[in-house]
Formats: sequence, structure tokens, C-alpha cells
Amino acid sequence: MTLAPSIEEVIEDFNVLKCMQCGVCSGSCPSGRQASLNVRRLVRKIGRDHEAICDESLWMCTTCYNCQERCPRGIAIVDAILAVRSIAAHEGLILERHRHVANLLQEHGHAVPIDDTRKEKRIQLGLNSLPSTVHSHADDLEDVKCLLASCGFGEITGRKE
Ligand code: SF4
Ligand code: SF4
Repeated sequence: MTLAPSIEEVIEDFNVLKCMQCGVCSGSCPSGRQASLNVRRLVRKIGRDHEAICDESLWMCTTCYNCQERCPRGIAIVDAILAVRSIAAHEGLILERHRHVANLLQEHGHAVPIDDTRKEKRIQLGLNSLPSTVHSHADDLEDVKCLLASCGFGEITGRKE
């Protein structure tokens, strides 16, 4: 089963080749100020270089959509980044720390499962020790696991680079 597009489809569907390398996207990118993400370069790489799926900066975008809203060429920058991430994930190319989070999600139904420290803080705040999520409803956790399994989530995120 594959739910990922081809890189050619990404380039066409999201108008990637219309990029004129003006840099408006990079100038409005908050992640670019904190991480090794240069979205202008990444767009060029997606358009010209199939190795974009190996570029670690692909995973530095927080999907705030600042760039996409401001692009003068109307390029669906974030949608293209998400689509290329999908291709990369199907090739087993996700960051190890993301793989770790994916495993937590499959095991606990939470990307950040609750621990004893947070349980204690919840009690101090007058809350139940567990939130009313799958942490409190084991049956629903099984449903989450079934959903993830049905779309091949574990198979995709479990592959080694
Ligand atoms: S704002 Fe749009 S046209 Fe300008 S560099 Fe970024 S993607 Fe290319
Ligand atoms: S959506 Fe991603 S690439 Fe675009 S501005 Fe936000 S963090 Fe940067």
C-alpha cells in the first residue's frame, strides 16, 4: 500500500516550478531563525533535485503557513513540503527522534505520554491524575492502535534509514 505521491506529482500539483527564488518565504519563516531550514532553498531542491527527500531541513518546518500565505507566485509551499515528507517517510527516511515519537503514539496513543511528574502536577492543580484521553480509556486506545495499523503507520515509521 502506498499513499505517497511521486515527486513529479508534487512539483506539478503545487506549482513548485513557478518559484522565482525571491526569498519572501525564507524572510517570513520563524523556523528558519531557529533551525537549519531555508525554505527558499528547499523549494528549489524539491523542484530540481530528487534528493530533497533526504534533506533534514524537510522536517524543520512547523507548518505555520506564513510562507505559503505570502508567496507572490501562489506556490503551495507547505503542502509540497508535507507531500515530500510523505514520500520520504515511505522510503524510511524520517528522523530518528520522529520515529521515537511515532512509536510512543502507537504504544500509548499520545506523542507525549503522561509520566509521574505530570500526574503529580495535575493532582496539585486539582485535576484527575490522568487526562480524559486514551490514558483513561484503555478500550479507546485499542481503537487508536487499530486505526494506525489500518493505514500502515507502524510499517512506515518503523523502517530504518
Ligand atoms: S516566496 Fe514563493 S516564489 Fe519566492 S522564493 Fe519562496 S516559494 Fe519561491
Ligand atoms: S510553514 Fe514551515 S517553511 Fe513555511 S514559514 Fe512556517 S515553518 Fe517556515
